[in-house]
Parts: sequence; structure tokens; C-alpha cells
Amino acid sequence: MSLRLGTTPQLKVPPKGERYDVVIVGGGPAGLSAAVYAARFLLKSIVVTEDIGGQLNLTNEVDDYPAMLKISATELISRFRAHAEKLFGVPVYSGVTVQGFEKASDVEYRVMGTKGLDVFTKAIILAVGSRRRKLGVPGEKEFTGRGVSYCSICDAPLYKGKEAAVVVGGGDAALEGAILLSGYVKKVYLVHRRREFRAKPFYVEEALKRPNIEFILDSVVKEIRGDKVVRSVIVQGKDGATRELAVDGVFVEIGFEPPKDWYQSLGLEVDELGYVKTDMWMRTNLPGVFAAGDAISLWRGFRQIVNAAASGAIAAYSAYTYLTEKGLVRRPGAQKA
Ligand code: NAP
Repeated sequence: MSLRLGTTPQLKVPPKGERYDVVIVGGGPAGLSAAVYAARFLLKSIVVTEDIGGQLNLTNEVDDYPAMLKISATELISRFRAHAEKLFGVPVYSGVTVQGFEKASDVEYRVMGTKGLDVFTKAIILAVGSRRRKLGVPGEKEFTGRGVSYCSICDAPLYKGKEAAVVVGGGDAALEGAILLSGYVKKVYLVHRRREFRAKPFYVEEALKRPNIEFILDSVVKEIRGDKVVRSVIVQGKDGATRELAVDGVFVEIGFEPPKDWYQSLGLEVDELGYVKTDMWMRTNLPGVFAAGDAISLWRGFRQIVNAAASGAIAAYSAYTYLTEKGLVRRPGAQKA
């Protein structure tokens, strides 16, 4: 079957007081996969999300999602959405932030959010991803949007023809970002606090091949300086020695952290880093609340699109199992049995 992709009309929020079997929070691969499976289980579901695509928006090309061979991240996001929304008819409300949920009765939660979101649901799948980690150094906040970026994939083209940029981090995002930037900027410094890389060896090898990428290892950025825009960074090595690098851009690619305080305020158990604790069926400690994707503690060191999608599918199955076991939805045919 072929799907017509492209833009889908923006839905605002569902009618106030509307009742659902499952509310899926988050529109990345985990949330949208959960939506596909929830629809397959004939659950009345919606997706409510700040953005569509989650961290896929921070990637350029995807070549490790099985069966897709090589696909642009934008196209893959559009396919995830079309699969849930067009093929399976799950309404997707984007641009909405879920602010919280509370028990409304023994069998229902009330979910509240921006734009007047106020609905009831028997189950929740949390697939909200995580937030970008900050360096916390002088100049970072001041120059954000004026030379400090948290997404090399998004902003690299803006630096076309510039003299130099620095990328901070040693994970996939930093290495992928440095490689991409090396096509736009004359000189790229990659500053990483250790000598070993968390990034896949493929990215490290690719970066090493680029003559205009300089690795500055065992080092950290201590300060970002500039006037109206970024002009330089102060980098400090393990021995304490500092040097000033003249740069036009600072790309902070040091990973993500979960909204730990928010999770805890909802009564969710989290691990020591603040990711939601689930069992292998994506069940949290709260009955009827499931979690998936980058929000969860499982597979922390291996965040991949395929894992996010898988956990979303499992969360939807678990929600279905929970709802049928509690008698909150009927399995087809069960009413005549
Ligand atoms: P990550 O894998 O968590 O790596 C973060 C990097 O930043 C690490 O090297 C870490 O150093 C460093 N770091 C953390 N806090 C720091 C601080 N305060 N100061 C300086 N350096 C700091 O994050 P990511 O690269 O953003 O990737 C996130 C997830 O998305 C990963 O699972 C990754 O595999 C996935 N991803 C995949 C792709 C792809 O497959 N194409 C692309 C992008 C992202 P240490 O190593 O010393 O901890």
C-alpha cells in the first residue's frame, strides 16, 4: 500500500473532557509506533506532543533503521506520522505540552496541558524523550542563538564559509555534527573530555579522515566569549593549561537528560539519572502508565530509533493487556462469549 505523505492539517486539542483508552504523550518514533499498535488493538487513542519526530529532528540521514536503507530523517518522520495518522487514523495533536496528569478515579487519569488540553484516559504511554544537556559555563546562556547551538544538524548550513567552529562532546551526535560541519566550515575543533569515544567507531573513523577536523581530547570548554556573537572559546586540558580558540560557532552536543523532577512530581519511579524505571513490558510503577523511548531507563547506552519504535510497540501491547485484564476494554468477540 502506498501512503501519501506531506503535510497533515494541524489539530489543536481534543474536545475538553473527551475520554480515551490511551493517551500517548510524545510524537517521536516511540510515541508514533505506540499509536500504530494501539490502533491495531482497536484502542481509542490520541498522540499529544510538543513536536513531531523527537530527536529524529536532530539527525540528517538515517541508514540504520532496518528496511529503510538510506532515508532522510525528515522523510522518516513523515512516514512515522503518516503510518499512525493516515493509515491507522490516530489523531496527532502537535504543539501541545502535557503539563501533568492525575488520578481521576480508580480507572481513569485526567491529562492536562497547554492550549487547554484536558482529557480523561484509562492508560497513558509516556514517550517524551529527554532534554538537551547544557555545559553550564560562562557565556553559554548569553550566546545561545548567537553562535551557541545545540543542534549541528539543524544549524550547520548557517555557518557555510565561516572560519571555524567547535563541537563539544564524544558521542554520535558530536561526531556526526563535526563531520557535517567540516563540509561547511574551514576548520572544526572537536573538544571531548576523554580520549575514548562513546560514538560508533564508524563516525570516529570518518571524522579522523577529514583534514579540517582537529581533535582536542582530555579537554573541556571553560568559557564562551564574544560581543554580539560568539568570537572564541577557552579550552582547558587535563593538565590545567588553557588556550583560546577563535571560533564563529559552538555546537554543544553533550547528550540529553530526562525531566527528572517532572517525572517525580507525577509519582513515577526514576533511576539515579532520572530516567523512568520500567520492567521489560514498559510498565512503570503507576498502574495504567507505561513509558517508552528515550524516557526509559532500559537501554540507556544504546538509544536507537529501532529501539524507541520497539519500546513504543511493547508499551501499546502492555496497555492493551492491562485494559483487557481490568475489563476496561473488550477483546473483539468477548461480549458474545
Ligand atoms: P551521548 O551518547 O550521551 O554522548 C554525550 C557525550 O557528551 C559523551 O561523549 C559525554 O562524555 C559528553 N558529555 C556529557 N556531559 C558533558 C559535559 N558536561 N561536558 C563535556 N562533555 C560532556 O549523547 P549524543 O551523542 O547526543 O547521543 C544521544 C543518543 O542518541 C545516543 O544513544 C546516540 O547513540 C544516539 N544518536 C545516534 C545517532 C546515530 O546513530 N546516527 C546520531 C545521534 C545520536 P563521556 O563520553 O565522557 O561521558
